Amino acid sequence: MTRISWDQYFMAQSHLLALRSTCERLAVGATIVRDKRIIAGGYNGSISGGVHCADEGCYVIDNHCVRTIHAEVNALLQCAKFGVKTEDAEVYVTHFPCLNCCKALIQAGIKTVYYANDYKNHPYAIELFEQSGVRFEKVELNEAVIDLNSQEKWSFVNSILEKLHQSNLSKKEIARLEDQAFSLFQPS
Ligand SMILES: [Zn+2]
Ligand SMILES: [Zn+2]
Repeated sequence: MTRISWDQYFMAQSHLLALRSTCERLAVGATIVRDKRIIAGGYNGSISGGVHCADEGCYVIDNHCVRTIHAEVNALLQCAKFGVKTEDAEVYVTHFPCLNCCKALIQAGIKTVYYANDYKNHPYAIELFEQSGVRFEKVELNEAVIDLNSQEKWSFVNSILEKLHQSNLSKKEIARLEDQAFSLFQPS
């Protein structure tokens, strides 16, 4: 069994948090880390005790849902609430943060932003990161690392693919199925 890397571990945590999102526009998760320790986490959601977009629909003004607090800000506010220092910390987010979240992360002293997916990466956000010496790096989640049966599933799919080669399916069709399987498992 290969040991999960820190990057994949924290990024997986953010993807788990995203599954708790209540806004249907975009499910985002953020994990704040200091010295390889998780100090806070957040997801896109309403204020505590508030109604959820998932139940009532989004409250959209100017094409933005105004009900939710973004994952990154929720994670920072958790630190504020419990008095946890964010200076020199790192954040792992499922998506490149929006401009407002970028500003909040910079101002909270976050030094590195790891993101799994590009999301309207705002040029002004990139300018502000560079100006304030905040490093940002894309770290894609390899979902196989959190699938405890991935090896077993991959060998099974692989054995089916081998059988397909002996069938009378066209080479083109087999190649298409193989591509699909590879993209699902990203075997390393
Ligand atoms: Zn919403
Ligand atoms: Zn945001």
